[in-house]
Amino acid sequence: MKQKRLMALSLATAVLVAGVCGSVAHAGMRPPDVSFEGVTKIVFTRTHFEEPRPSGKDGKPLREGAKTTIVIVDKVEIARLTKLIVLRPKAVCGCMHLDEVTFEKGKSRINVHFCDHCFDIGNVSYRMPGAFHAAYQKLLAAHFAKATK
Ligand SMILES: [Zn+2]
Repeated sequence: MKQKRLMALSLATAVLVAGVCGSVAHAGMRPPDVSFEGVTKIVFTRTHFEEPRPSGKDGKPLREGAKTTIVIVDKVEIARLTKLIVLRPKAVCGCMHLDEVTFEKGKSRINVHFCDHCFDIGNVSYRMPGAFHAAYQKLLAAHFAKATK
């Protein structure tokens, strides 16, 4: 065993990467100015996950990953729904969101993902407005009632 190996590791070169990662951390902490005025279309999307009900067409359970979409373009209905949204910021939850809604106004859109207690716009979390969630449940129920006829 006459091998003498001096591993001269040059550690100095490994530390130059730190500056790149810090820049994103400041974005999104302050609630943005969100207005639902001028919305012309609302699109709800539910992604089904381990859900035996509600049934799809022909009464069969929807497979996991299936999507249900509800599109609303009626002005009165849009006004009714958007009026139910009151934004109150809260801490972000770690829960899984299977429901999404997009509010289209002209070329811009507000993308929201939500559950029964979160209403998240981008990475800013708000409390789910109870009346809005109730209205969505009614829309879903009506949608599935129609689909199974
Ligand atoms: Zn949630």
